[in-house]
Amino acid sequence: MKYISTRHGSQGNPAPLDFEDVMLAGLARDGGLYLPAEWPQFSKAEIAALKGKPYGEVAYRVMKPFVGNAFDEPTFRRLIAEAYASFETPEVAPLKPLGDSGMHLLELFHGPTLAFKDVALQLLGRMLDHTLTTKGQHATIVGATSGDTGSAAIEAVRDRKAIEIFMLFPRGRVSEVQRRQMTTVLAPNVHNIAVQGTFDDCQDLAKACFNDLAFRDKHALTAVNSINFARVMAQIVYYFWAAVKLGAPDTPVAFTVPSGNFGNVYAGYAAKQMGLPISHFVVAANANDILARFFEQGAMTMTTVVPTYSPSMDIQVSSNFERLLFDLYGRDGKALADAMTAFRSTGTLKVGANAFGDVRALFDAGRVDDEGTLRAIADCLARFGETIDPHTAVGYAVAQHHRRDPKIPMVVLATAHPAKFPDAVQKATGVRPALPARLGDLLERTERVDGLPNSADALKEMIEDRLAGARPRVKVRT
Ligand SMILES: *Cc1c(COP(=O)(O)O)cnc(C)c1O
Repeated sequence: MKYISTRHGSQGNPAPLDFEDVMLAGLARDGGLYLPAEWPQFSKAEIAALKGKPYGEVAYRVMKPFVGNAFDEPTFRRLIAEAYASFETPEVAPLKPLGDSGMHLLELFHGPTLAFKDVALQLLGRMLDHTLTTKGQHATIVGATSGDTGSAAIEAVRDRKAIEIFMLFPRGRVSEVQRRQMTTVLAPNVHNIAVQGTFDDCQDLAKACFNDLAFRDKHALTAVNSINFARVMAQIVYYFWAAVKLGAPDTPVAFTVPSGNFGNVYAGYAAKQMGLPISHFVVAANANDILARFFEQGAMTMTTVVPTYSPSMDIQVSSNFERLLFDLYGRDGKALADAMTAFRSTGTLKVGANAFGDVRALFDAGRVDDEGTLRAIADCLARFGETIDPHTAVGYAVAQHHRRDPKIPMVVLATAHPAKFPDAVQKATGVRPALPARLGDLLERTERVDGLPNSADALKEMIEDRLAGARPRVKVRT
């Protein structure tokens, strides 16, 4: 399998890359995002054969075509097994029906940090470490988090000798549980940085490091944000897993995805391109609804970010959206690069009528504000006895309005454990959800974190300082 950038052709014509290079690099050198040159295809028989298989086996079969020769079979199977052994349930991602409503919750939060990010990052951390160690190399992860990626990435690479991690988060805008899940990891290779700014500022700072190619090469920067294709790959698995349980390939399934950076729902789109019968997707947003407005109007217009009860979705510029736009621009990397540059300066991006028609056939979208989020948490508990977190609640609320066909099962991705956002859940239900036992003493653990102004120069200086005198870094071929 070969990979290209969404902006291929905009800066010369670099050769397509293999999985290993894509995983190590994260972001493409031309500023674009990597994706497969072609999607692997799964026949009806191959999809049917996944029925009844354990999660790890489904994961192996779905991901095998993407990794090519990066790992031999026993190694890849072992990495998958170890990644999912860190989950609290052997099912990894339990699918729960909501009464006989035809709606289902796909619980993706049983990993070590209680959000769906663990599903991909527990595997990515192991794949990275294996590859670097085999080559005798090191890498530096620089990432930005709206709350959940940070802890999941840190948990996935803590104490690994081949990797140093710098994680930026918007100061005061992540929940206390989210913050502590990052800052209480005192491993020497972990550097937590609280930025005076929003998540989008953090994302821009991280991007500035990657766009400084000399800096990027010097420190062998790698990205584990959802822009890293390896994460998308690992998320494709649970769409197959859930759809097969509900009758695929013989019956179609719909998915509602609480969305921020568009990484999760894009993985579903990938599953659809691979042959999984998905009737449609519902993109669920909170008050930060740039994506919902895009799917309603065909134009993306930046506004400002407002804090909500679902902070992991408090995002304006969804980095993974560029992967979908790539298809909407007829896979013309140069045209897309121009459009993205214009978007950065004008704050608006419009797609053509034909492309928009295609997108509307496959995607619905909706939004819910904080009050609606609390009502949804209370409603789900009252009707179905399930306590859901505010991100899942956004999906649950929006999904009700977008059942195109009541006979088609609707899966709502449950992206976080309710105990990760106890304030909102308590407000909605009157009951404070307890942290699972393994995280019980989180609120008493020691924290370590550095402050940083919203400045790329200050960030680079800090990274230089920390890495000064460090060992030689990996050379990433891009
Ligand atoms: C990251 C996150 C989201 C948004 O996922 P994207 O892939 O960025 O769209 C939703 N809910 C939770 C709990 C998250 O951590």
